[in-house]
Amino acid sequence: MHDLVVIGGGGAGLTSALTAKKLNWDANITIISKDELSYSPCSLPFVLSGEIQSFDAIGHDLKNICENSHINCIIDKAVEIDLEEKRVSTRKEGDFPFKSLVIATGGRPRKLDVDGSDLKGIYTLQNIEDGKKILEKATDSKKAVVVGGGAVGVETAAALRKRGLEVSIVEMCDQLFGHCFDQSYSGIIKKTLEDEGITILTGKSTDGFMGDKWVDSVNVGGKDVPADFVVVGVGLIPNGELAEKAGIKTFKGAIQVDGWMQTNVDGVYAAGDCVLTHSLITGQPICSQLGTSASRQGKIAGSNAVGCYAAMEGVLNSMVLKLFDMEIGRTGLTESDARCMEIPIISGKVKTTTKPQYFPGAEDLYVKLVFKEINRQIIGAQIVGSGEGVADKIDLCAYAIQKNSTIDDLMKLKYCYTPPLAPINNAIVDAAENAYRKITRLREVRRRKF
Ligand SMILES: Cc1cc2nc3c(=O)[nH]c(=O)nc-3n(C[C@H](O)[C@H](O)[C@H](O)COP(=O)(O)OP(=O)(O)OC[C@H]3O[C@@H](n4cnc5c(N)ncnc54)[C@H](O)[C@@H]3O)c2cc1C
Repeated sequence: MHDLVVIGGGGAGLTSALTAKKLNWDANITIISKDELSYSPCSLPFVLSGEIQSFDAIGHDLKNICENSHINCIIDKAVEIDLEEKRVSTRKEGDFPFKSLVIATGGRPRKLDVDGSDLKGIYTLQNIEDGKKILEKATDSKKAVVVGGGAVGVETAAALRKRGLEVSIVEMCDQLFGHCFDQSYSGIIKKTLEDEGITILTGKSTDGFMGDKWVDSVNVGGKDVPADFVVVGVGLIPNGELAEKAGIKTFKGAIQVDGWMQTNVDGVYAAGDCVLTHSLITGQPICSQLGTSASRQGKIAGSNAVGCYAAMEGVLNSMVLKLFDMEIGRTGLTESDARCMEIPIISGKVKTTTKPQYFPGAEDLYVKLVFKEINRQIIGAQIVGSGEGVADKIDLCAYAIQKNSTIDDLMKLKYCYTPPLAPINNAIVDAAENAYRKITRLREVRRRKF
Protein backbone atom coordinates (compact mmCIF):
# COMPACT_ATOMS: atom_id res chain seq x y z
CA MET A 1 0.00 0.00 0.00
CA HIS A 2 1.32 3.45 -0.95
CA ASP A 3 0.41 6.31 1.37
CA LEU A 4 0.34 8.62 -1.62
CA VAL A 5 0.37 7.95 -5.37
CA VAL A 6 0.90 10.94 -7.67
CA ILE A 7 0.09 10.67 -11.38
CA GLY A 8 2.26 13.08 -13.40
CA GLY A 9 5.78 14.32 -12.71
CA GLY A 10 5.40 17.89 -14.02
CA GLY A 11 5.35 21.08 -11.93
CA ALA A 12 2.15 20.15 -10.08
CA GLY A 13 2.86 16.44 -9.56
CA LEU A 14 6.49 16.75 -8.49
CA THR A 15 5.72 19.67 -6.16
CA SER A 16 2.91 17.74 -4.52
CA ALA A 17 5.14 14.69 -3.94
CA LEU A 18 8.08 16.76 -2.62
CA THR A 19 5.79 18.79 -0.33
CA ALA A 20 4.11 15.65 1.00
CA LYS A 21 7.52 14.12 1.74
CA LYS A 22 8.75 17.29 3.47
CA LEU A 23 5.68 17.37 5.70
CA ASN A 24 5.45 13.64 6.35
CA TRP A 25 8.86 12.01 6.08
CA ASP A 26 7.53 8.53 6.92
CA ALA A 27 4.97 8.53 4.11
CA ASN A 28 5.53 6.02 1.32
CA ILE A 29 5.14 8.17 -1.80
CA THR A 30 5.17 7.08 -5.45
CA ILE A 31 5.15 9.20 -8.61
CA ILE A 32 3.92 7.63 -11.85
CA SER A 33 5.13 9.62 -14.84
CA LYS A 34 5.13 9.05 -18.60
CA ASP A 35 8.19 11.30 -18.88
CA GLU A 36 11.67 10.43 -17.71
CA LEU A 37 12.63 14.08 -17.54
CA SER A 38 11.41 16.80 -15.23
CA TYR A 39 11.54 20.32 -16.68
CA SER A 40 9.63 23.55 -16.89
CA PRO A 41 7.82 23.93 -20.25
CA CYS A 42 8.14 27.70 -19.64
CA SER A 43 11.82 27.41 -20.60
CA LEU A 44 11.14 25.91 -24.06
CA PRO A 45 10.85 29.25 -25.97
CA PHE A 46 14.26 30.28 -24.62
CA VAL A 47 15.94 27.22 -26.09
CA LEU A 48 14.23 28.03 -29.40
CA SER A 49 15.56 31.59 -29.23
CA GLY A 50 19.09 30.41 -28.37
CA GLU A 51 19.17 32.17 -24.97
CA ILE A 52 19.43 28.72 -23.34
CA GLN A 53 22.09 26.66 -25.08
CA SER A 54 20.25 23.34 -25.48
CA PHE A 55 17.31 21.23 -24.34
CA ASP A 56 19.78 19.21 -22.23
CA ALA A 57 20.20 22.26 -20.00
CA ILE A 58 16.53 22.34 -18.94
CA GLY A 59 15.74 18.66 -18.31
CA HIS A 60 16.58 16.78 -15.11
CA ASP A 61 16.27 13.06 -14.56
CA LEU A 62 13.02 12.52 -12.63
CA LYS A 63 14.26 9.25 -11.11
CA ASN A 64 17.31 11.04 -9.68
CA ILE A 65 15.22 13.81 -8.14
CA CYS A 66 12.89 11.24 -6.58
CA GLU A 67 15.74 9.05 -5.34
CA ASN A 68 17.35 12.04 -3.59
CA SER A 69 14.03 12.75 -1.87
CA HIS A 70 13.19 9.13 -1.00
CA ILE A 71 10.20 9.07 -3.33
CA ASN A 72 9.51 6.04 -5.54
CA CYS A 73 9.46 6.83 -9.24
CA ILE A 74 7.68 4.71 -11.86
CA ILE A 75 8.20 5.68 -15.50
CA ASP A 76 5.00 4.44 -17.11
CA LYS A 77 1.57 5.60 -18.19
CA ALA A 78 -1.28 5.40 -15.69
CA VAL A 79 -4.18 3.85 -17.59
CA GLU A 80 -6.89 3.40 -14.98
CA ILE A 81 -7.95 4.64 -11.56
CA ASP A 82 -10.14 2.23 -9.57
CA LEU A 83 -11.80 4.23 -6.83
CA GLU A 84 -13.49 1.20 -5.22
CA GLU A 85 -10.22 -0.69 -4.85
CA LYS A 86 -8.22 2.57 -4.39
CA ARG A 87 -5.69 1.52 -7.04
CA VAL A 88 -3.94 3.02 -10.07
CA SER A 89 -3.11 0.63 -12.91
CA THR A 90 -0.24 1.35 -15.25
CA ARG A 91 0.44 0.06 -18.76
CA LYS A 92 3.51 -2.08 -17.92
CA GLU A 93 4.44 -1.75 -14.25
CA GLY A 94 1.28 -3.15 -12.67
CA ASP A 95 -1.05 -1.80 -10.01
CA PHE A 96 -0.42 0.75 -7.27
CA PRO A 97 -2.83 0.72 -4.33
CA PHE A 98 -3.08 4.08 -2.53
CA LYS A 99 -4.42 5.71 0.61
CA SER A 100 -4.36 9.14 -1.07
CA LEU A 101 -4.07 10.06 -4.74
CA VAL A 102 -2.99 13.27 -6.51
CA ILE A 103 -3.87 13.56 -10.20
CA ALA A 104 -1.54 16.01 -11.97
CA THR A 105 -1.79 14.94 -15.60
CA GLY A 106 -1.42 18.43 -17.13
CA GLY A 107 -2.95 19.31 -20.49
CA ARG A 108 -2.36 18.92 -24.21
CA PRO A 109 -2.33 21.59 -26.92
CA ARG A 110 -5.60 22.26 -28.70
CA LYS A 111 -5.42 21.56 -32.45
CA LEU A 112 -7.13 23.53 -35.18
CA ASP A 113 -9.94 21.76 -36.94
CA VAL A 114 -9.44 23.28 -40.41
CA ASP A 115 -8.49 21.95 -43.85
CA GLY A 116 -4.92 20.73 -44.07
CA SER A 117 -4.32 20.48 -40.33
CA ASP A 118 -2.85 16.98 -40.81
CA LEU A 119 -0.11 18.27 -43.15
CA LYS A 120 3.49 17.85 -42.04
CA GLY A 121 5.27 20.92 -40.67
CA ILE A 122 2.48 22.00 -38.30
CA TYR A 123 3.68 21.89 -34.70
CA THR A 124 2.54 22.70 -31.19
CA LEU A 125 4.91 23.56 -28.32
CA GLN A 126 4.24 21.72 -25.09
CA ASN A 127 7.25 19.52 -24.36
CA ILE A 128 10.92 18.99 -25.21
CA GLU A 129 10.08 16.66 -28.13
CA ASP A 130 7.96 19.42 -29.71
CA GLY A 131 10.74 21.93 -29.08
CA LYS A 132 13.35 19.73 -30.74
CA LYS A 133 11.21 19.28 -33.87
CA ILE A 134 10.57 23.03 -34.15
CA LEU A 135 14.22 23.90 -33.60
CA GLU A 136 15.39 21.40 -36.19
CA LYS A 137 13.00 22.81 -38.77
CA ALA A 138 13.72 26.43 -37.82
CA THR A 139 17.45 26.02 -38.52
CA ASP A 140 16.82 25.43 -42.26
CA SER A 141 13.75 27.67 -42.68
CA LYS A 142 13.14 31.29 -43.56
CA LYS A 143 9.45 31.85 -42.83
CA ALA A 144 7.27 30.75 -39.93
CA VAL A 145 3.63 31.40 -39.13
CA VAL A 146 2.45 31.22 -35.52
CA VAL A 147 -1.28 30.75 -35.04
CA GLY A 148 -2.46 32.18 -31.71
CA GLY A 149 -1.69 35.50 -30.06
CA GLY A 150 -1.62 34.34 -26.44
CA ALA A 151 1.45 33.83 -24.25
CA VAL A 152 2.74 30.61 -25.87
CA GLY A 153 2.18 31.90 -29.43
CA VAL A 154 3.79 35.29 -28.86
CA GLU A 155 6.76 33.88 -26.91
CA THR A 156 7.34 31.33 -29.68
CA ALA A 157 7.09 34.00 -32.38
CA ALA A 158 9.60 36.22 -30.54
CA ALA A 159 11.97 33.26 -30.15
CA LEU A 160 11.83 32.37 -33.85
CA ARG A 161 12.33 36.03 -34.80
CA LYS A 162 15.43 36.11 -32.60
CA ARG A 163 16.67 33.15 -34.65
CA GLY A 164 16.37 35.42 -37.71
CA LEU A 165 13.20 33.98 -39.27
CA GLU A 166 10.45 36.03 -40.91
CA VAL A 167 7.55 35.49 -38.52
CA SER A 168 3.82 36.25 -38.73
CA ILE A 169 1.35 35.86 -35.87
CA VAL A 170 -2.28 35.14 -36.81
CA GLU A 171 -4.84 35.91 -34.10
CA MET A 172 -8.58 35.52 -34.49
CA CYS A 173 -9.47 38.19 -31.88
CA ASP A 174 -8.95 41.83 -32.69
CA GLN A 175 -6.03 42.06 -30.27
CA LEU A 176 -3.13 40.01 -28.87
CA PHE A 177 -3.43 38.62 -25.31
CA GLY A 178 -7.25 38.73 -25.40
CA HIS A 179 -8.22 38.34 -21.72
CA CYS A 180 -4.85 39.35 -20.30
CA PHE A 181 -4.54 42.98 -21.40
CA ASP A 182 -6.92 45.74 -22.37
CA GLN A 183 -6.81 46.83 -25.98
CA SER A 184 -4.64 49.93 -25.46
CA TYR A 185 -1.96 47.94 -23.59
CA SER A 186 -2.18 45.13 -26.11
CA GLY A 187 -1.61 47.82 -28.77
CA ILE A 188 1.67 48.90 -27.13
CA ILE A 189 2.82 45.26 -27.12
CA LYS A 190 1.78 44.80 -30.75
CA LYS A 191 3.72 47.90 -31.84
CA THR A 192 6.89 46.68 -30.11
CA LEU A 193 6.61 43.27 -31.77
CA GLU A 194 6.05 44.93 -35.16
CA ASP A 195 9.08 47.16 -34.58
CA GLU A 196 11.07 43.96 -34.03
CA GLY A 197 9.94 42.76 -37.47
CA ILE A 198 7.07 40.42 -36.61
CA THR A 199 3.98 40.70 -38.83
CA ILE A 200 0.81 40.67 -36.78
CA LEU A 201 -2.53 39.76 -38.30
CA THR A 202 -5.24 40.30 -35.69
CA GLY A 203 -8.95 39.84 -36.30
CA LYS A 204 -8.17 37.19 -38.91
CA SER A 205 -9.18 33.56 -38.81
CA THR A 206 -6.96 30.70 -39.87
CA ASP A 207 -9.10 29.05 -42.53
CA GLY A 208 -6.77 26.26 -43.58
CA PHE A 209 -3.27 25.02 -44.27
CA MET A 210 -2.10 24.45 -47.85
CA GLY A 211 0.64 22.27 -49.26
CA ASP A 212 1.42 18.90 -50.73
CA LYS A 213 2.22 16.67 -47.75
CA TRP A 214 4.24 19.52 -46.15
CA VAL A 215 2.60 22.85 -45.27
CA ASP A 216 3.72 25.72 -47.51
CA SER A 217 1.18 28.42 -46.64
CA VAL A 218 -1.62 29.33 -44.29
CA ASN A 219 -4.97 30.59 -45.50
CA VAL A 220 -5.63 33.63 -43.33
CA GLY A 221 -9.02 35.23 -43.90
CA GLY A 222 -8.93 34.25 -47.59
CA LYS A 223 -5.28 35.26 -48.22
CA ASP A 224 -2.31 32.88 -48.39
CA VAL A 225 0.57 33.59 -46.03
CA PRO A 226 3.67 31.59 -47.05
CA ALA A 227 5.22 29.41 -44.34
CA ASP A 228 8.05 26.88 -44.20
CA PHE A 229 6.43 25.64 -41.02
CA VAL A 230 3.66 26.60 -38.60
CA VAL A 231 3.39 26.60 -34.81
CA VAL A 232 -0.14 26.47 -33.40
CA GLY A 233 -0.64 27.89 -29.89
CA VAL A 234 -4.39 28.17 -29.40
CA GLY A 235 -4.81 26.90 -25.86
CA LEU A 236 -4.68 23.76 -23.79
CA ILE A 237 -7.15 20.91 -23.25
CA PRO A 238 -7.00 19.62 -19.66
CA ASN A 239 -6.05 15.93 -19.40
CA GLY A 240 -9.07 14.99 -17.30
CA GLU A 241 -10.07 11.77 -19.09
CA LEU A 242 -8.42 9.34 -16.65
CA ALA A 243 -10.24 11.00 -13.74
CA GLU A 244 -13.52 11.26 -15.64
CA LYS A 245 -13.45 7.56 -16.57
CA ALA A 246 -13.00 6.71 -12.88
CA GLY A 247 -16.12 8.71 -11.99
CA ILE A 248 -14.44 11.87 -10.71
CA LYS A 249 -16.39 15.05 -11.49
CA THR A 250 -15.09 17.11 -14.39
CA PHE A 251 -16.32 20.15 -16.27
CA LYS A 252 -15.46 20.44 -19.97
CA GLY A 253 -12.62 17.98 -19.37
CA ALA A 254 -11.12 19.78 -16.37
CA ILE A 255 -11.14 18.09 -12.95
CA GLN A 256 -13.31 19.90 -10.42
CA VAL A 257 -11.70 20.53 -7.05
CA ASP A 258 -12.63 22.32 -3.83
CA GLY A 259 -10.56 24.86 -1.90
CA TRP A 260 -8.36 22.03 -0.59
CA MET A 261 -7.65 20.73 -4.10
CA GLN A 262 -9.75 17.68 -3.29
CA THR A 263 -12.01 16.22 -5.98
CA ASN A 264 -15.54 15.02 -5.23
CA VAL A 265 -13.92 11.78 -4.01
CA ASP A 266 -12.51 11.74 -0.49
CA GLY A 267 -8.72 11.34 -0.48
CA VAL A 268 -8.37 12.03 -4.21
CA TYR A 269 -6.79 15.38 -5.06
CA ALA A 270 -5.87 17.06 -8.33
CA ALA A 271 -3.56 19.95 -9.27
CA GLY A 272 -2.11 21.85 -12.24
CA ASP A 273 -3.23 22.30 -15.84
CA CYS A 274 -5.78 19.46 -15.55
CA VAL A 275 -7.97 21.22 -12.94
CA LEU A 276 -10.66 23.82 -12.84
CA THR A 277 -9.80 26.31 -10.13
CA HIS A 278 -11.53 29.55 -9.12
CA SER A 279 -10.83 33.26 -9.35
CA LEU A 280 -9.82 34.97 -6.12
CA ILE A 281 -11.77 38.07 -7.18
CA THR A 282 -15.04 36.74 -8.55
CA GLY A 283 -15.06 33.21 -7.12
CA GLN A 284 -15.97 31.97 -10.58
CA PRO A 285 -14.42 28.73 -11.87
CA ILE A 286 -11.47 29.19 -14.28
CA CYS A 287 -8.67 27.11 -15.75
CA SER A 288 -5.47 28.85 -14.70
CA GLN A 289 -2.90 26.78 -16.65
CA LEU A 290 0.12 28.67 -15.36
CA GLY A 291 3.28 27.26 -13.82
CA THR A 292 2.80 29.38 -10.68
CA SER A 293 -0.73 27.99 -10.12
CA ALA A 294 0.43 24.41 -10.83
CA SER A 295 3.16 24.70 -8.23
CA ARG A 296 0.89 26.27 -5.57
CA GLN A 297 -1.91 23.81 -6.22
CA GLY A 298 0.63 20.95 -6.08
CA LYS A 299 1.82 22.15 -2.65
CA ILE A 300 -1.73 22.27 -1.34
CA ALA A 301 -2.77 18.91 -2.78
CA GLY A 302 0.45 17.28 -1.47
CA SER A 303 -0.02 18.76 2.02
CA ASN A 304 -3.63 17.68 2.36
CA ALA A 305 -2.96 14.25 0.85
CA VAL A 306 -0.68 13.32 3.76
CA GLY A 307 -2.86 14.63 6.55
CA CYS A 308 -1.73 18.27 6.79
CA TYR A 309 -3.95 21.25 6.16
CA ALA A 310 -3.62 23.86 3.41
CA ALA A 311 -6.20 25.79 1.43
CA MET A 312 -6.18 27.33 -2.05
CA GLU A 313 -7.62 30.80 -1.83
CA GLY A 314 -8.12 31.23 -5.59
CA VAL A 315 -5.96 32.52 -8.42
CA LEU A 316 -5.25 35.95 -9.90
CA ASN A 317 -3.48 34.57 -12.97
CA SER A 318 -0.50 36.84 -12.46
CA MET A 319 1.71 36.59 -15.51
CA VAL A 320 4.90 38.22 -16.71
CA LEU A 321 6.74 37.82 -20.02
CA LYS A 322 9.92 39.17 -21.56
CA LEU A 323 9.59 39.83 -25.27
CA PHE A 324 12.79 41.24 -26.76
CA ASP A 325 13.65 44.18 -24.41
CA MET A 326 10.04 44.64 -23.33
CA GLU A 327 8.60 43.25 -20.09
CA ILE A 328 4.85 42.81 -19.83
CA GLY A 329 2.88 41.76 -16.78
CA ARG A 330 -0.68 41.49 -15.56
CA THR A 331 -2.72 40.27 -12.61
CA GLY A 332 -6.40 40.05 -11.70
CA LEU A 333 -9.12 41.44 -13.97
CA THR A 334 -8.72 43.70 -16.98
CA GLU A 335 -11.02 46.67 -17.41
CA SER A 336 -12.84 44.97 -20.30
CA ASP A 337 -13.35 41.72 -18.37
CA ALA A 338 -14.67 43.65 -15.37
CA ARG A 339 -17.07 45.59 -17.61
CA CYS A 340 -18.27 42.31 -19.22
CA MET A 341 -19.05 41.07 -15.70
CA GLU A 342 -20.88 44.36 -15.01
CA ILE A 343 -18.50 45.30 -12.22
CA PRO A 344 -18.41 49.13 -12.11
CA ILE A 345 -14.73 50.15 -12.17
CA ILE A 346 -12.39 53.12 -12.15
CA SER A 347 -9.01 52.75 -13.77
CA GLY A 348 -5.84 54.67 -12.98
CA LYS A 349 -3.17 55.02 -15.65
CA VAL A 350 0.27 56.50 -15.88
CA LYS A 351 3.03 56.67 -18.46
CA THR A 352 6.33 57.24 -16.73
CA THR A 353 9.93 56.00 -16.86
CA THR A 354 11.77 53.16 -15.13
CA LYS A 355 14.34 55.61 -13.70
CA PRO A 356 14.50 59.43 -13.59
CA GLN A 357 14.39 60.66 -17.19
CA TYR A 358 17.87 62.18 -16.91
CA PHE A 359 19.46 58.88 -15.87
CA PRO A 360 21.12 56.78 -18.63
CA GLY A 361 19.00 53.75 -19.51
CA ALA A 362 15.66 55.26 -18.42
CA GLU A 363 12.90 53.52 -20.38
CA ASP A 364 9.16 53.99 -20.81
CA LEU A 365 6.87 52.33 -18.28
CA TYR A 366 3.09 52.08 -18.62
CA VAL A 367 0.99 51.17 -15.59
CA LYS A 368 -2.75 50.62 -15.46
CA LEU A 369 -4.59 49.73 -12.26
CA VAL A 370 -8.24 48.66 -12.16
CA PHE A 371 -10.32 49.42 -9.04
CA LYS A 372 -13.89 48.54 -8.07
CA GLU A 373 -15.80 51.81 -8.00
CA ILE A 374 -18.03 50.72 -5.14
CA ASN A 375 -15.29 50.23 -2.53
CA ARG A 376 -12.15 51.49 -4.36
CA GLN A 377 -10.44 48.10 -3.98
CA ILE A 378 -7.81 47.14 -6.54
CA ILE A 379 -8.87 44.17 -8.70
CA GLY A 380 -6.37 44.25 -11.55
CA ALA A 381 -3.10 45.60 -12.92
CA GLN A 382 -1.33 45.71 -16.26
CA ILE A 383 2.24 46.90 -16.70
CA VAL A 384 4.29 47.21 -19.88
CA GLY A 385 7.79 48.58 -20.00
CA SER A 386 11.28 48.32 -21.31
CA GLY A 387 13.90 47.60 -18.70
CA GLU A 388 13.51 45.62 -15.53
CA GLY A 389 11.12 45.62 -12.60
CA VAL A 390 7.76 44.67 -14.11
CA ALA A 391 7.64 41.28 -12.33
CA ASP A 392 8.16 42.84 -8.88
CA LYS A 393 5.54 45.51 -9.53
CA ILE A 394 3.01 42.88 -10.64
CA ASP A 395 3.72 40.87 -7.47
CA LEU A 396 3.15 44.02 -5.40
CA CYS A 397 -0.20 44.60 -7.15
CA ALA A 398 -1.19 40.95 -6.67
CA TYR A 399 -0.43 41.29 -2.96
CA ALA A 400 -2.47 44.49 -2.83
CA ILE A 401 -5.41 42.62 -4.41
CA GLN A 402 -5.04 39.75 -1.92
CA LYS A 403 -5.09 42.28 0.94
CA ASN A 404 -8.15 44.14 -0.44
CA SER A 405 -6.08 47.33 -0.72
CA THR A 406 -7.82 50.48 -1.92
CA ILE A 407 -6.85 53.46 -4.05
CA ASP A 408 -6.11 55.33 -0.81
CA ASP A 409 -3.84 52.52 0.50
CA LEU A 410 -1.81 52.50 -2.71
CA MET A 411 -1.52 56.30 -2.72
CA LYS A 412 0.16 55.96 0.69
CA LEU A 413 2.66 53.27 -0.40
CA LYS A 414 6.00 53.81 1.34
CA TYR A 415 8.41 53.21 -1.51
CA CYS A 416 12.10 53.66 -2.17
CA TYR A 417 14.06 55.86 -4.60
CA THR A 418 17.53 56.09 -6.05
CA PRO A 419 18.27 57.42 -9.58
CA PRO A 420 19.94 54.29 -11.04
CA LEU A 421 17.00 52.08 -9.97
CA ALA A 422 13.76 53.99 -9.44
CA PRO A 423 12.38 57.51 -9.95
CA ILE A 424 11.21 59.78 -7.15
CA ASN A 425 7.59 59.29 -8.27
CA ASN A 426 6.44 55.70 -7.92
CA ALA A 427 4.40 54.44 -10.88
CA ILE A 428 1.90 52.48 -8.75
CA VAL A 429 1.28 55.51 -6.53
CA ASP A 430 0.90 57.76 -9.59
CA ALA A 431 -1.62 55.38 -11.18
CA ALA A 432 -3.59 55.22 -7.90
CA GLU A 433 -3.59 59.03 -7.74
CA ASN A 434 -4.88 59.12 -11.31
CA ALA A 435 -7.78 56.86 -10.27
CA TYR A 436 -8.39 59.03 -7.21
CA ARG A 437 -8.70 62.15 -9.36
CA LYS A 438 -11.14 60.33 -11.68
CA ILE A 439 -13.33 59.15 -8.82
CA THR A 440 -13.33 62.63 -7.27
CA ARG A 441 -14.38 64.13 -10.62
CA LEU A 442 -17.10 61.51 -10.96
CA ARG A 443 -18.50 62.43 -7.55
CA GLU A 444 -18.43 66.11 -8.44
CA VAL A 445 -20.34 65.44 -11.69
CA ARG A 446 -22.96 63.41 -9.78
CA ARG A 447 -23.28 66.11 -7.11
CA ARG A 448 -23.81 68.80 -9.78
CA LYS A 449 -26.39 66.70 -11.60
CA PHE A 450 -28.28 66.33 -8.34
C1 LIG B 1 5.79 27.04 -24.06
C2 LIG B 1 5.21 27.26 -22.71
C3 LIG B 1 5.60 28.39 -21.97
C4 LIG B 1 5.04 28.62 -20.71
N1 LIG B 1 5.44 29.71 -20.02
C5 LIG B 1 4.95 29.93 -18.78
C6 LIG B 1 5.40 31.04 -18.00
O1 LIG B 1 6.25 31.83 -18.42
N2 LIG B 1 4.86 31.21 -16.76
C7 LIG B 1 3.93 30.36 -16.24
O2 LIG B 1 3.50 30.55 -15.09
N3 LIG B 1 3.50 29.29 -16.96
C8 LIG B 1 3.98 29.05 -18.19
N4 LIG B 1 3.58 27.96 -18.91
C9 LIG B 1 2.58 27.05 -18.32
C10 LIG B 1 3.23 26.04 -17.37
O3 LIG B 1 4.32 25.45 -18.01
C11 LIG B 1 2.19 24.97 -17.00
O4 LIG B 1 1.09 25.60 -16.42
C12 LIG B 1 2.76 23.95 -16.00
O5 LIG B 1 3.90 23.34 -16.53
C13 LIG B 1 1.69 22.89 -15.70
O6 LIG B 1 2.22 21.91 -14.88
P1 LIG B 1 1.45 20.52 -14.72
O7 LIG B 1 2.27 19.71 -13.77
O8 LIG B 1 0.03 20.74 -14.42
O9 LIG B 1 1.48 19.87 -16.17
P2 LIG B 1 2.71 19.30 -17.01
O10 LIG B 1 3.95 20.09 -16.76
O11 LIG B 1 2.20 19.20 -18.40
O12 LIG B 1 2.93 17.85 -16.40
C14 LIG B 1 2.01 16.82 -16.54
C15 LIG B 1 2.78 15.53 -16.58
O13 LIG B 1 1.88 14.44 -16.45
C16 LIG B 1 2.29 13.41 -17.33
N5 LIG B 1 1.11 12.54 -17.58
C17 LIG B 1 -0.04 12.88 -18.20
N6 LIG B 1 -0.87 11.82 -18.22
C18 LIG B 1 -0.23 10.81 -17.61
C19 LIG B 1 -0.57 9.46 -17.34
N7 LIG B 1 -1.74 8.95 -17.72
N8 LIG B 1 0.34 8.68 -16.70
C20 LIG B 1 1.54 9.18 -16.32
N9 LIG B 1 1.92 10.47 -16.56
C21 LIG B 1 1.04 11.26 -17.18
C22 LIG B 1 2.73 14.17 -18.57
O14 LIG B 1 3.53 13.36 -19.39
C23 LIG B 1 3.49 15.33 -17.93
O15 LIG B 1 4.83 15.00 -17.68
C24 LIG B 1 4.11 27.71 -20.18
C25 LIG B 1 3.73 26.57 -20.92
C26 LIG B 1 4.29 26.35 -22.15
C27 LIG B 1 3.88 25.12 -22.94
